Amino acid sequence: MTKTRGNLFILSAPSGAGKSSLIKALLDKQANIKVSVSHTTRSPRPGENNGEHYHFVTVDEFKTLIDKGDFFEWAQVFENYYGTSKQAIEDQLNNGIDVFLDIDWQGARQVRTLLPEVKTIFILPPSQSELEQRLNNRGQDSQEVIAARMAEAKSESSHYNEFDYVIVNDNFETALTELEHIVVAARLQTKAQQVRHQTLIAELLAE
Ligand code: 5GP
Repeated sequence: MTKTRGNLFILSAPSGAGKSSLIKALLDKQANIKVSVSHTTRSPRPGENNGEHYHFVTVDEFKTLIDKGDFFEWAQVFENYYGTSKQAIEDQLNNGIDVFLDIDWQGARQVRTLLPEVKTIFILPPSQSELEQRLNNRGQDSQEVIAARMAEAKSESSHYNEFDYVIVNDNFETALTELEHIVVAARLQTKAQQVRHQTLIAELLAE
């Protein structure tokens, strides 16, 4: 079997839809997938480590990276800047590893323009009340912050129809299986299979 280039996926969701847990579970179940580590100007939350969850940088450092053309895509998401460096994805894709970008709808638009073959997935929560409960359960934020998050969630969700796939995260295991199916289907696309199984295909089609 010959190695193929990895697939690029985008996973977007409003805060509280369960995106991070789904990605984590997907990585545990499927080999050959990495999540890109973005740069951000926001402060680390408790438990977040530099270089693991994000590369935490200052606004000046972020702007220097923009000027150097180091970003594949970047956006201002509410108060902070977020961006995916070219380095975070190119090496992995070239090594045949599938890469997931956990980015917002603005970043998804930019990537779609650069790489139309990207597979984009949007995660929706099962209901408004469930979303509110999930945002409350984090227990870290005031009612005011939660109300602001709900408004942000609505604004993010309004872009769901720009994505190739929509998964409703009601039952976690079902949502995870659906996500896995998208990954597996992408790997089975003819263009990739042609490269992966070129010896077999040549043999089967030989005179
Ligand atoms: P959080 O601050 O909660 O980690 O992320 C806030 C939002 O920023 C989420 O919707 C997340 O998907 C988005 N985000 C994280 N990294 C990037 C990035 O590199 N580019 C873009 N465009 N959005 C990002």
